[in-house]
Amino acid sequence: MKEKLLDLLACPVCGGDILLAYASKYDGKEIIDGVLTCKKCTREYKVVRGVPRFADLGKIEADKAETAANFGWQWTNFTQEDPKYNEQFLGWLQPVTPDFFEGKIVLEGGCGKGRHTKLAAEWGAKEVVGIDLGDGVESAFALTRDLPNAHIVQCDIFKLPLKKAFDYAFSVGVLHHTPDPKKAFLSLASKVVKGGSISAWIYGAENNEWITKYVNPVREGFTSKISQPVLYLTTKLVYRPVNSALKPLAKHLFYNDYMNHIGTFGWREQHNIVFDHLVAPTAYYISRPEFEEWWKEIGADDAEITWHNQNSWCGFGKIT
Ligand SMILES: [Zn+2]
Repeated sequence: MKEKLLDLLACPVCGGDILLAYASKYDGKEIIDGVLTCKKCTREYKVVRGVPRFADLGKIEADKAETAANFGWQWTNFTQEDPKYNEQFLGWLQPVTPDFFEGKIVLEGGCGKGRHTKLAAEWGAKEVVGIDLGDGVESAFALTRDLPNAHIVQCDIFKLPLKKAFDYAFSVGVLHHTPDPKKAFLSLASKVVKGGSISAWIYGAENNEWITKYVNPVREGFTSKISQPVLYLTTKLVYRPVNSALKPLAKHLFYNDYMNHIGTFGWREQHNIVFDHLVAPTAYYISRPEFEEWWKEIGADDAEITWHNQNSWCGFGKIT
């Protein structure tokens, strides 16, 4: 944790300023281990392995913890670079372009292993804070620690330990995995200053009826409950070979058609589909009218809402 992050932090309970009580380990740039304290209510928060921790996974609701833990596994175990990543990221943020980040204080809601936070820092943000609830923060910290303007915080998106000090907030593919996507969006927006902007990319309800009907029951009843390495290996090693070699046996396998279908995708697609649709215990699909409501509520009546990849909505608006 870089010391200048203190200027952007606020107590998630009372909103008071956060001070550094002490650092037990400091590497010359980062507080690696230490204790933060609220100036107003004197609550203490730890800095562990370079990341300030405002969430205790043992104490938050089961679903949120489960989503965070499942995505944490994904982000810790799949860290390869995708050359098309910048393009994909900008697709979700449309109409935002890299130069938009220059000089802005930026917040990412749900940073995973920090790839977007890193890009925002490289594109010239004055400061960028990536927050996440899960173990992904460990990888995110490792990925961004050398960038002087990047910060990672472990916390709950509904109880952000931040001041209302951000020029721009964005969240891609995260809000729909929280127990209340609109509330999560409003929470992010509450940290953006008047005249600042926000971007959000969410699953659309339109065109995704098949997921709600067929995939959600599988996810809710089965795949979000088994361990991630087991799920991955099950689709890859068991269902596919059995389907090609032992056709008569295949029909007895659990959820055979669906799992086998997933197994036919390439590694990349399989990874995305399996982990995004099946792993999270929570996934909401939001219709355009619902999404429009979100923007109206933050006073961004002129928000640009774009239909993306035939399955999702990108929104960009200015808080007035
Ligand atoms: Zn406090």
